[in-house]
Amino acid sequence: MSDNNLALFERARQSIPGGVNSPVRAFRAVGGTPRFVQRAEGAYFWDANGTRYIDYIGSWGPMILGHGHPAVLQAVQKAALDGFSFGAPTEREIELAEEILSLYPSMQMLRLVSSGTEATMSAIRLARGATGRSKFIKFEGCYHGHADSLLVKAGSGLATFGHPTSAGVPPEVAQHTLVLEYNNLEQLEEAFALHGPELACVIIEPIAGNMNFVRASLPFMARCRELCSRHGALLVLDEVMTGCRVALGGAQSVYARALPGFAPDITVLGKVIGGGMPLAAFGGPRAIMEQLAPLGPVYQAGTLSGNPIATACGLATLREISRPGFFEALSARTRTLVAGLKSAAAAEGVAFSADCDGGMFGFFLLPTLPQNYPQVMKSDSDKFNKLFHGLLARGVYIAPALYEAGFVSAAHTDADIEATAQAAREVFKTL
Ligand SMILES: *Cc1c(COP(=O)(O)O)cnc(C)c1O
Repeated sequence: MSDNNLALFERARQSIPGGVNSPVRAFRAVGGTPRFVQRAEGAYFWDANGTRYIDYIGSWGPMILGHGHPAVLQAVQKAALDGFSFGAPTEREIELAEEILSLYPSMQMLRLVSSGTEATMSAIRLARGATGRSKFIKFEGCYHGHADSLLVKAGSGLATFGHPTSAGVPPEVAQHTLVLEYNNLEQLEEAFALHGPELACVIIEPIAGNMNFVRASLPFMARCRELCSRHGALLVLDEVMTGCRVALGGAQSVYARALPGFAPDITVLGKVIGGGMPLAAFGGPRAIMEQLAPLGPVYQAGTLSGNPIATACGLATLREISRPGFFEALSARTRTLVAGLKSAAAAEGVAFSADCDGGMFGFFLLPTLPQNYPQVMKSDSDKFNKLFHGLLARGVYIAPALYEAGFVSAAHTDADIEATAQAAREVFKTL
């Protein structure tokens, strides 16, 4: 039988580098042919061969209601009839801003942009502009989009700044980025002792979803906050993945429960707040946000920023997930999935650990949960690839790389979760 996915992949490679418009889609880590999506509905998508998959990626997080939720679809259709883009302000931008601000008390103002990359890049510029400093700290294993200053790996020691991880990033740009190990308190203390007065900000994924699922420990997050405040640096929480995903109020609401008064200076959001449309945001206290053009000296702009269809999609999504009980039900579903995977692994004697919060989960073929990137990378990649392809063959689509998180939507049924655990058990038998 001919494979339509393979035919499309071969054709795509003629006109698009690697056949994909974002590298992880190419299945390079796991091998094999990417599935070309024909359509999606609820918790499922169908590929070019008409094969159905239970979707645990959900566009890497945004599809928290599942695909094609009726209320969201209706809002998008209605907005499209009124016009695609104006390059002039609309009331819906205010509504979305107000809705987000009501969920995130750490922010008094925000600006809408079109991608997480744009939002984090702008947040860094704002932190630099507001503090008058150039250098900043990021952590190994956290992903903050593909802006030059963020594609950086650690230098040879804490006294030296980073090196580019991508060709095309000037070393001079990377030299302002200090890359530390996640959850390493000692390195954090030392970095502030050495460079405190030069630091514009610390940027961190509070739950790192780009090394699968690794939580910043409470003492680590608390110390990030204290050291930033003491040294006049800003704490930037990149909640592009975790925002409105691990909880309505994001990971910051989870940390604030354990650390009274905890709040970031700048928050970056994306993914869920756009409900699957190109939309992201960054925001913070009024005094910081008013540094932005046209009020202040920090320039930032976008032709499609606050796009009327994207804001309609985001607003409709936020209204659905703000309904009482939504996150409780979603969290329970995710916990059931994780428990099912754990017991499937235990039944087959496979070393396995997993964690979740809200509608986001991660698992590792490791006996205990890792705390940082080097520990994540100790996962057995051959085993993971077998697991990935075994699940795929059984109609379960998880991220095609062991360092990516997974996502459950409100559309996943008990039967979907049960079928997933059953598929996992079958595959674990073969590992
Ligand atoms: C996805 C992601 C980004 C980048 O967002 P894009 O919309 O892909 O540019 C930034 N930070 C985090 C934490 C992300 O998960």
